[in-house]
Amino acid sequence: MTQGKGVNRREVLVAIPTLAAAQAFRGLPRQEPTPVAVASSNGLKAVEEAVRRMEAGVLPVEAAVAGVSLVEEDPEDVTVGYGGLPNEDGVVQLDAAVMDGVTMRAGAVAALEGIKHPSQVALTVMRRTTRVLLVGAGAKKFALAHGFKEENLLTERARKIWLYWKENAATNDDWLPDPKAVEDPDIRWFIEKHGDSYFRPTGTIHLSAVDAQGRVGCCTTTSGLFFKLSGRVGDSPLVGCGLYCDSEVGSAGATGHGESNIIVVGAHTVVEFMRQGKTPEEACLATLERVVRATREPYLKDPQGRPKNNLILYAVNVHGEVGAASIWSGTKYAVARKGRPAELRECAYLFVRPKRSP
Ligand code: ASP
Repeated sequence: MTQGKGVNRREVLVAIPTLAAAQAFRGLPRQEPTPVAVASSNGLKAVEEAVRRMEAGVLPVEAAVAGVSLVEEDPEDVTVGYGGLPNEDGVVQLDAAVMDGVTMRAGAVAALEGIKHPSQVALTVMRRTTRVLLVGAGAKKFALAHGFKEENLLTERARKIWLYWKENAATNDDWLPDPKAVEDPDIRWFIEKHGDSYFRPTGTIHLSAVDAQGRVGCCTTTSGLFFKLSGRVGDSPLVGCGLYCDSEVGSAGATGHGESNIIVVGAHTVVEFMRQGKTPEEACLATLERVVRATREPYLKDPQGRPKNNLILYAVNVHGEVGAASIWSGTKYAVARKGRPAELRECAYLFVRPKRSP
């Protein structure tokens, strides 16, 4: 069935999977209290907000967008929305997607410039078009048509960090590094947080949510790989890769090295593993094992043949069980559920990360 303009609303409602259908999955009674939300480690306040919204009756996909919007507008998070680190040209290009596991509808935007809340634009694409993905100038035109305000998303901190990267990226170009740059508090903050030797860290927020009726929804939003090629789009806004959900099973999403995730269609793979009976954590680990097997190019591997980059997968099933896993140890994820405070938990992992040399 398409979601075209001619679709009769009653037909859509009849086609929506019922709670009974969702609970028939694996034949298990729900084991954990719901609503529940799971997110990347930068999503503590986002999962709290999402659970609060779902308790008030808001649909999971909308609750997910409300949660991640808090991070999009926070300039302290340089991986998402306003204050996100720019591309190689110093331009902030944002990617986001949403999915509603009840209707199996999705919306997404990529390489969107000048709009602080790409997640809300993605939700509007889902709600107000018959399409899934809008990119670049077209995505911006659509956002402006729907009343989103254009603003400068490049904060002074992000500009200084970008310039530091630009001036130090090569020794044979025309840019000369400022020898005093490391004394700047913003540059020092970045180096302490992300290191100086590998100057291409990543960051994003994914949030998956299940409400008390077993409905699921999710959202992923990002400024993408730091200093990415202009126009480069990662996994985050690609349905099936950066996020996927189905109210018959659960929801999943990813942060980390987008190209590794695109190759295994990670979020969809996690949901399909859960459909086959794996727990959320088992499903995330099994998907990461596929990433390891698919990492074949030498430039992507360490001397032991393991992926150099990290990928983190997050999942929740309709029974309220949550889990997350990363290729390398030392990552956390955020969880909030009805009646319990939000907390950070350790992700399961495939390999122990070697200690950084001092
Ligand atoms: N997955 C995002 C991308 O590849 C970045 C990240 O999650 O850190 O653009």
